[in-house]
Amino acid sequence: MNNTVKLSQLLPGDTCVVSKVHGHGAFRKRVLEMGIIKGRPIQVLLQAPLNDPVKYRVMDYEVSLRRSEADLIEVTEVTDPQQKHELVSTGTVLCDETLQTIGSHSHKVINVALIGNPNCGKTSLFNIASGAKEHVGNYSGVTVDAKTGHFRYNGYRFNFVDLPGTYSLASYSPEELYVREYLRDESADIILNVVDASNLERNLYLTTELIDMDRRVVIALNMYDELRRRGDELDYEALGRMIGVPMVPVIARTGEGVNKLLDTVIATFEGKHSDVRHVHVSLGPDMEAAVRKLIDRLKECENMHHHFSPRYVAIKLLEGDTMSEKMVRNLKEGTTILELRDILRKHLEDMTQQDISADIAANKYGFIAGALAETFMPGNKESNQSTRIMDALATSKLLGFPLFIAIMCFIFWATFYIGQYPMDWIESGVSALSLLTHSYLSAGPVRDMIADGIIGGVGGVIVFLPNILILYFCISFMEDSGYMARAAFIMDKLMHKIGLHGKSFIPLVMGFGCNVPAITASRAIESKSSRLITILINPFMSCSARLPIYVLMVGTFFPAHASLVFIGLYLTGILMAVITAKLLRKSLFKKDETPFVMELPPYRVPTLKASLRHTWGKGEQYLKKMGGPILIASILVWALNYFPRPADIHDTNGAAQQETVSNDSYLYRIGKAVTPVLEPLGFNWKATVAAVAGVPAKEIVVSTLGVLYTGDEATAESTLAERLKADNGESSEASNDGFTSASALSFLVFILLYCPCTATVTAIARETGSWRWSAFSVFYNTAVAWLASWLVFTVTRMIL
Ligand code: GDP
Ligand code: MG
Repeated sequence: MNNTVKLSQLLPGDTCVVSKVHGHGAFRKRVLEMGIIKGRPIQVLLQAPLNDPVKYRVMDYEVSLRRSEADLIEVTEVTDPQQKHELVSTGTVLCDETLQTIGSHSHKVINVALIGNPNCGKTSLFNIASGAKEHVGNYSGVTVDAKTGHFRYNGYRFNFVDLPGTYSLASYSPEELYVREYLRDESADIILNVVDASNLERNLYLTTELIDMDRRVVIALNMYDELRRRGDELDYEALGRMIGVPMVPVIARTGEGVNKLLDTVIATFEGKHSDVRHVHVSLGPDMEAAVRKLIDRLKECENMHHHFSPRYVAIKLLEGDTMSEKMVRNLKEGTTILELRDILRKHLEDMTQQDISADIAANKYGFIAGALAETFMPGNKESNQSTRIMDALATSKLLGFPLFIAIMCFIFWATFYIGQYPMDWIESGVSALSLLTHSYLSAGPVRDMIADGIIGGVGGVIVFLPNILILYFCISFMEDSGYMARAAFIMDKLMHKIGLHGKSFIPLVMGFGCNVPAITASRAIESKSSRLITILINPFMSCSARLPIYVLMVGTFFPAHASLVFIGLYLTGILMAVITAKLLRKSLFKKDETPFVMELPPYRVPTLKASLRHTWGKGEQYLKKMGGPILIASILVWALNYFPRPADIHDTNGAAQQETVSNDSYLYRIGKAVTPVLEPLGFNWKATVAAVAGVPAKEIVVSTLGVLYTGDEATAESTLAERLKADNGESSEASNDGFTSASALSFLVFILLYCPCTATVTAIARETGSWRWSAFSVFYNTAVAWLASWLVFTVTRMIL
């Protein structure tokens, strides 16, 4: 099978035929001069000791190319030995037909990078094209990583990469930097610029930067339904010709136009699209003259970066962009170029009396306005009227907060109250299963492992699936409708009081689902200190993995005041977050520089499909965890609790045996060893073990309780809740294995606040770039938890 790959991907001994040469300027010219042209066979000879550069044979000479250069040469690999031999011996350029026979079985690959403003529908398009299940949300900053999806279409293999949203390619926010580095380092064949058709002017600003970059771009005019609904008219074909970039209207939500879009991508890739040409976004005579001078100097540089055109770099240099400066400084001629840049900047500033970046932006927007004037007819229908009406409500002085609180209350009510029904069904299913194993399997370790270890542990966690699905559905609905951005908007002032941005609010709410994606979503916050604080307080947002513990304990010990305790717990978490944020702001990060600029997208009716897909995605994750880590942890905890076993005890004396075993098991010993630390909080050894076991993942707390509080045959049909209480009679403190109300409450507070789970700790390290903050989080949170629990335990005991 033959494959279109980059020359750099081949290994010594491989033979290939050139199918395309990418890159700019000096490099491209030189390569073509050397005879590396389409149809030319190349043989890979050997790699330099450090793997770079690589030596190739072309015709009858040898040439050395750096990997970064070989990246730009696209080739068709030849694997047939006979063909290989012929190619190597003749070395002549193949005509198109022969090339085609070589490539006839080939899966030609197109790498497509999706680039666009936040919230323009990139992820929706990505999902519909590649059949992936990435999360869409109606606010900016949902996608913070590159996601790759693959699919085949019309004989091509497409690699789609969904990138974070950016307004420009400056290096201001982490997303912009990320996208820019992606464009610099990865070779995307086609940039698919996703444009929100209902917001053309601003979206096309990014397009002007891509045009400067001189890459092959195709525009997906997304949200075309919204444009139509407003009665706007756009001659997109004319606009596309004007800016030299093919445009295809699509509706990513429904998939309309996606095939046409892919056809256009293929045509552009093959160089067959008639609209493609390089235009200059004119910046006015003075600026152009300066750009020209810089370009001339940049073109002389030998090792300029191939993926960025000199024009793009020149403009960025004039704008004073730090990343381009850094890039140029590393060139041999760097200092002189930067000196020239400074002179030109000074000159321009004196002339225009204006900031250069502002001047460039104004010119670009002028270009866009000019292009739209000829092709765009705004309709007379009131745009976004519903958004205006809804915002009049959602952000109003009088109703904004009550509405917000009502929505939050509704979400928690739905999660717990509605969730109760399916939960009961699953619970009775689990009990039935346990009973079944007890009556059908013969007694012995295997039965005990299945009934107590697996069903007790995993079953104890699985019953909370409905609660979690409902919570995620609600969060996803809020995000997708656009309400989340309003929540951030109305919360800004409050958030400001603790030294944060309204934008920090979104990751904090997401934290109620899971802290890991929430911490990743903090990347959307531009200010470094705000971002750090938001990340560090996120674990105090009670995630859904802690939910099962609350449901279990609250239902068992505080059935009469369930809502109160629930709300109290969530509020305690929030309070700790607030205190921590204030402390951090006061002590470590004094100042916050960045302004609060946040887009408020129009409200959109969330598609049920997207919400369900997202929700189900989370459910799947939950189930996977159940089958993996939680299953293993359950069996481990069970085994530690089951062994060592006195060999001579048989199961005829059930209850007595239970007693002896528990009090001598490995787990009991571990629990006893740690108990002194947690005893002041009212924890018995089982609670201690559960808390310790929950460090890898909070779900394990409940599964551990499930394993530790399994009964014998006589109590097999009782629920875990009943068993938790069963032991707490008036017996002496020492033999007391159950919970009292006071110790249950203190246990809840401890679980709420103590050290974040392993995944969260890793996420903190990744996002802050340092394990120091992870360590801080582990120690600080555990200390806070200990103090708070102790306080709760002492006070409750006094009251009760
Ligand atoms: P991203 O931030 O660019 O990845 O955008 P998303 O894919 O997350 O989508 C943002 C919002 O726009 C979501 O609420 C989508 O449901 C909505 N959306 C996406 N495509 C379309 C479309 O073609 N028409 C309409 N009306 N809404 C869309
Ligand atoms: Mg996205």
